[in-house]
Amino acid sequence: MSPCKRHSTFAFEDKMLQIGQITKKKVRYHKVDPIPVHENTRFVSLVAHNEMKSVLLKFVEEQHDFFSQVPLVTTGSTGKFLEQRLGIPVERLVASGPLGGDQAIGGMISENRISAIFFFKDPLSCHAHAADIEALTRLCDVHQIPYATNRASAVGLLMALKEFGLNWQIESDENSIVNKYKLAQSQVITAIAQNK
Ligand code: PGA
Repeated sequence: MSPCKRHSTFAFEDKMLQIGQITKKKVRYHKVDPIPVHENTRFVSLVAHNEMKSVLLKFVEEQHDFFSQVPLVTTGSTGKFLEQRLGIPVERLVASGPLGGDQAIGGMISENRISAIFFFKDPLSCHAHAADIEALTRLCDVHQIPYATNRASAVGLLMALKEFGLNWQIESDENSIVNKYKLAQSQVITAIAQNK
C-alpha cells in the first residue's frame, strides 16, 4: 500500500471513530516463548523514560517480529510495560533506571553482553539518575555500542541490525582508543611489577 493510501485510510478510520461508526480494534498479542540465553548471548537493550514509554511501545509494536526474536534486556518499568502490552519476553529484566538499572546495563556492556541500545530519552525533563545515564552513554562510546536515543535514530539502527545482524559493529570495529588504553595499562602493570 502506498504511503498516501495508508494516510487516507487512517484519516478515514479517524473520522469514523469520531462519529462512532466504528470502534477501535484492540490488537492482542500472544505471549511469545523466551529465547534461550547462554553465557555469551548479546542482548538488545530497550529503555524509555516515562514520557517516552508510549513512543517506544509504538516503535516496538511496529517491529514486533524483530523484537520478539532477539534477546532483550530492559530496565524494570520499561520491560514490564512491554511484556504486558505486547507479550514480548524480556530475557533479562534489570532494576528500574533510577534504582540502578542503567548502571546494570552499563555493566553488561563491559562484559561484552550488549549488542545495541534503544534508549528513548525525554530531553525536556530533569532526571534524578542523570549521572547514570551519562555513564551509560560514556560506556557506549568506549565500547562502540550503537545507541539510539530517539525514534529517528532508532529507525536507522534497526535497519542496520536487520541488515547486518546483532554483531555487525564488532566485526567492523577496531576500537583504537580501547586498544591504546589496554596497552598503556599493561605497561603500567609491568612497570609496577618490576619495581617490586
Ligand atoms: P524504567 O527506567 O524503565 O525503570 O522506567 C528507565 C530509565 O532509565 O529512566
